[in-house]
Amino acid sequence: MKNVPRSASMVLPHLTTWLREGLSVCMIAALALCASSVSRAATVDHSAEAAPAASKAPAKSASAAATTTETQTLGTDLKKALKDNLIDKKNLKLVITDKPPFKPAGSAADGHGTAAAAPAAMDHAPAPAAKKAPAHTPAVVNPRASRDYIKAKAAALTGHEAGTDAHGGEVHWSYEGETGPQAWGKLKPEFNVCAIGKRQSPINIEDSGTLHGPAEPLMFNYTPSNGVVVNNGHTIQVDVQGENTLRVRGTVYKLLQFHFHAPSEEQINYRNAAMVAHLVHKSSDGQLAVVAVLLDPGAANALINKVWTYMPLDANDRVRLPLDILDMNELLPKDQRYFQFMGSLTTPPCTEGVLWMVLKQSSQISKDQIRLFQQLYPNNARPVQPVNGRPVRNAQ
Ligand SMILES: [Zn+2]
Repeated sequence: MKNVPRSASMVLPHLTTWLREGLSVCMIAALALCASSVSRAATVDHSAEAAPAASKAPAKSASAAATTTETQTLGTDLKKALKDNLIDKKNLKLVITDKPPFKPAGSAADGHGTAAAAPAAMDHAPAPAAKKAPAHTPAVVNPRASRDYIKAKAAALTGHEAGTDAHGGEVHWSYEGETGPQAWGKLKPEFNVCAIGKRQSPINIEDSGTLHGPAEPLMFNYTPSNGVVVNNGHTIQVDVQGENTLRVRGTVYKLLQFHFHAPSEEQINYRNAAMVAHLVHKSSDGQLAVVAVLLDPGAANALINKVWTYMPLDANDRVRLPLDILDMNELLPKDQRYFQFMGSLTTPPCTEGVLWMVLKQSSQISKDQIRLFQQLYPNNARPVQPVNGRPVRNAQ
C-alpha cells in the first residue's frame, strides 16, 4: 500500500461508506477513473520487481471515450443498486495489493495469501466443493481489470450476472480454434497468467538438463475410497472422498480429484505418452501438488476400468461410484521415481505455484481404454510451455 498515491489512499477507504450514504452517479464515475489511475500507478511501481503480470498488463492507454461509456453503465448499475436499497446488504470492496495480479487467485477464497493457494477458480483441479466457493476478490492491478471488477460487483448488486457466457456458466475455453490454448490469456482478465506467466505447465523434461541426485521417496497413503465421476466438458474427472494422502517435502497433501488428458500433456525428451492421469492434491495451507501418471498402451488398467464403467456421457453429467470401489494404488506404477518442478495449472486460469511430480515410469492402459476416452476427448492437452530456466529435479 505504501506505493499507492496519496489521493487514492485517501479516497478508497471511504468508498464503502459513500456507497452506503447514497453516492451520486457523478461520484461513482470519478471513483472509477480514480481506481484506474491507481491501477496505472501500481503497474508502474511493479515493473521493477519482476512482476510480469503487472508490468505487461495490456496498457489500455485509458481511452477516454471507452472509460466514459463504461463508467456511465457502471454508474447506472450502481444507482439502481442504491435505489433498490441493496447496498446495506453487500459491501463493495476495492483491493489494492502489491502482489502480481491473479497469481494468488485463490487467496481470497480460502483465506491464504500465498500464490500456491490458488485453486478455487480453476476448472478441473479443485475439490468438489470448490466450484461452489464464492467468487474471489481479484487484485486491482490494471485499468481494464479494475473496471471489469467494479462492473461485475455492480452487476452482482443489481442481481445481474456479468462476465458469464450465454449458458450462464464460466467463460468458454477449449483446446482448439479461437478459444484454444493460444487465446486463453485473452479470454478473461483472470486468465492473463496463461499468456504471461513464467512458470507454466506442462513442460518438456529434458533428461540431460535436470538436476540428478538423491531425493526423498513419495509417500503415498491411498485407501479404498468413494468417488463421483464427472464429465466437466474438458475432461473426465473423479472427485474423490476418502483417506488418500501424499507426503513430500515435509507436508501432507490430500487427494482431491484425478482426471485425464489425451495425449499426455507433459513430454519427457520430447515424447508424449498416449495419456496421462493428473492426481491433484492439496495441503491444509492451500498448496497444490499434482502427481502425473503417464499412461502407455499395454494391459488394461483396473482402476480405469471402474471409472470408464461409470463414464458420464454428457458435459456436466455426474455418476456416483459404488462404495469404496476406488483404490488409487491400482493406477500407480511400481517404480515411483519422479521429476519434480514448480509449475501451474494446465487449464485456465493457469495459476502458478503448483508443485509437480511426474513419475518416470508409465502405467499401462489398454488400447480399448484409450480409444473410449479419445471418443469423448480426442485432444485435451495443452501444448508444452517454456521452461524459462526453472530447475527440474531428477529424483533418483
Ligand atoms: Zn490435468
